Amino acid sequence: MHRMTSALARHTRRAVLQSAIDASAHCATADPDLWFRTDGEPQIAWQARRAEAIRVCNGCPIRAACEELALRDRDGNPRVDDMVRGGLSGTQLAAARTTQANRLTAVVDADRDTEGRLLDDLSIELRTQSGLNPDGRRNGGRLRQHENRTEQNLRIRALAASIRQIRIARRARAGWGVVA
Ligand code: SF4
Repeated sequence: MHRMTSALARHTRRAVLQSAIDASAHCATADPDLWFRTDGEPQIAWQARRAEAIRVCNGCPIRAACEELALRDRDGNPRVDDMVRGGLSGTQLAAARTTQANRLTAVVDADRDTEGRLLDDLSIELRTQSGLNPDGRRNGGRLRQHENRTEQNLRIRALAASIRQIRIARRARAGWGVVA
């Protein structure tokens, strides 16, 4: 699964939604097949399972977050009744995406603005950390210097990973799946 750092989670709405779902989804402890129609499943059988999935969703504490994420993920097809997410069938999700198109565009744009600022902040911190002299702190002797270097290297690696993660996501949205 795609993992977010705590800094990213604080800064992007999408990550917050996903974290809430990871922590509290009722479907996490149920049979995941309940939420998806199987190939060739008769409509009558699927209707019963779909109703049961929606019932579970309606008791789920993060249903609203799940619905918002499903809409952002563009889940649901107006012509195919084969899934449930966030308490809505696939066709209902598709309809909600149309009725909430303006709101969805606004929140996704807001995410990207926030993400862009976060990318700038992380890049500045990476440059600052890379330019620091870990031996510059006078107290503590050799052992402390070694700890400082280790700490700095870990921080630099974490920053570089976060930056790479954001760039991968941005490039994927722009149509490039692979980071150059
Ligand atoms: S609302 Fe439904 S699909 Fe979403 S996390 Fe909860 S149980 Fe799962």
